[in-house]
Amino acid sequence: MQTSDDEALPPVDAEVGIDLGPTHFAVLSDGTKITAPKFLRRAAHRLKRLQQALSRKQRGSNNRKKAAVKVARAHAQVADARRDWQHKLSTQIIRDNQAVYVEDLCVTGLARTRLAKSVHDAGWTSFTGMLEYKAARYGRTFHRVDRFFPSTRMCSQCGRINEKTALGVRSWTCSCGAVHDRDVNAAINVLAAGQAES
Ligand SMILES: [Zn+2]
Repeated sequence: MQTSDDEALPPVDAEVGIDLGPTHFAVLSDGTKITAPKFLRRAAHRLKRLQQALSRKQRGSNNRKKAAVKVARAHAQVADARRDWQHKLSTQIIRDNQAVYVEDLCVTGLARTRLAKSVHDAGWTSFTGMLEYKAARYGRTFHRVDRFFPSTRMCSQCGRINEKTALGVRSWTCSCGAVHDRDVNAAINVLAAGQAES
């Protein structure tokens, strides 16, 4: 049958859960922590400076027009660089794993929280969208885990739901004795929940 199965990648055993959190772009259940590359952070910083410069220029002036062109160009560069980087990253994750599970991000639900800015800046929506269509194209499983699932507070060893901790607390010890990196533990829980749901 001539279907998209033509493009299916050879099967692999690994499955992965992904935590999209405030400290890293993404943390994988195998412990890998992914940060946006330096060139991307630098370009984003430069864009912000150009936007500030633009806002200080007098309306209708030639200088303002020139500054607006610089902002538009920098904006396009950041968008291109981010898209390229996300394409490489999503392709590698799909290639390495038979199933990919992520927390369901409800951006509008997060909009009122202090995570809102990082959600919009990080581009998680486009990234998880790439994972989803590439999974479909290459014969992998992609599944979004319920966003109300307490992935951060649940001990991935014993299942106990622990007290809320401040965002700054990066590791914690469960009363069962397990010591957790907050984000890796969350990613392991996303993996387990995804495997149970799908
Ligand atoms: Zn525990």
